[in-house]
Amino acid sequence: MSADSIRTVAVLGAGTMGNGIAHVFARSGYRVLLRDIDKNFLDRALDTISKNLDREVAKQKITATEKSTALARIQPVTDNVALVAADFVVEAVPEQLDLKIRILKDVDSVVGPGVVLASNTSSISITQLAAHTGRPDRFIGMHFMNPVPVMALVEVIRGIATSDATFAATTALCEKLGKTAVAVNDSPGFVSNRVLMPLINEAAFAVMEGVATPESVDTVMKLGMNHPMGPLQLADFIGLDVCVEILDVLLRGFGDPKYRACPLLRKYVAAGWLGRKSGRGFYTYS
Ligand code: NAD
Repeated sequence: MSADSIRTVAVLGAGTMGNGIAHVFARSGYRVLLRDIDKNFLDRALDTISKNLDREVAKQKITATEKSTALARIQPVTDNVALVAADFVVEAVPEQLDLKIRILKDVDSVVGPGVVLASNTSSISITQLAAHTGRPDRFIGMHFMNPVPVMALVEVIRGIATSDATFAATTALCEKLGKTAVAVNDSPGFVSNRVLMPLINEAAFAVMEGVATPESVDTVMKLGMNHPMGPLQLADFIGLDVCVEILDVLLRGFGDPKYRACPLLRKYVAAGWLGRKSGRGFYTYS
């Protein structure tokens, strides 16, 4: 499988990441099969993609015609049958091991034998996910950053059995999307979340212990360390539930208590304060 032969890409999950991934593939000329479990989720995703493409039109990055053409390339689907047409698959369903395994097994049995399965997991082992499919050599991590249309990086993660051809096709595909691929070996949290999540966690501990308010913690990091966004603002953006899930994976993967999720993060998640997507996290959103 070479990147040049890829025309149709299946994106599994139309949430925060899935709609961004569908957006960049469609804008780069690929036909996209966007799969979710419910038509309402797909309608919402297409609405988000349309609004995000509007922003690019307003910034004169694309024309209104290019926007409509890109949007028309995305076909929403609620079952796996349509995925048979896919040349490449990117999985972006919630960060739950059992769910990912079930979905990847199902898709593995539907798509052609040469098709590469890529997971956008933030922290689950690529080697482990690959082992549940019949194609561990054609399985790889393709970790896009949020918001996908804006962020230049894709961490490309090789599992133990990932072939050189799969790695080459995936990095070439990233380039076609205008992204920079960085090769990373399979290890809990890869590089991005192994470094980022302890920062977010420590910021949450500082708030829980009354060291400073969320605004103050974020201001220290923005003005003092030149971070474009404070860690708690970023946590709200990522989703506090996603942060806790990733910290749990790091804790299990390394067995090191330094990755223990801050109780305040868990409390917010239990309250349904998931960050920007639920309207409230460390900050409130209208
Ligand atoms: P999300 O909850 O916003 O979206 C997940 C979507 O998957 C939902 O729309 C859900 O309905 C759908 N889904 C559930 N079961 C499905 C099934 N059987 N078939 C198809 N779709 C199904 O989650 P997200 O934030 O987009 O995260 C998705 C993945 O991307 C996770 O692995 C996460 O770790 C990773 N990730 C997230 C971020 C981030 O900032 N949010 C960044 C990088 C990577």
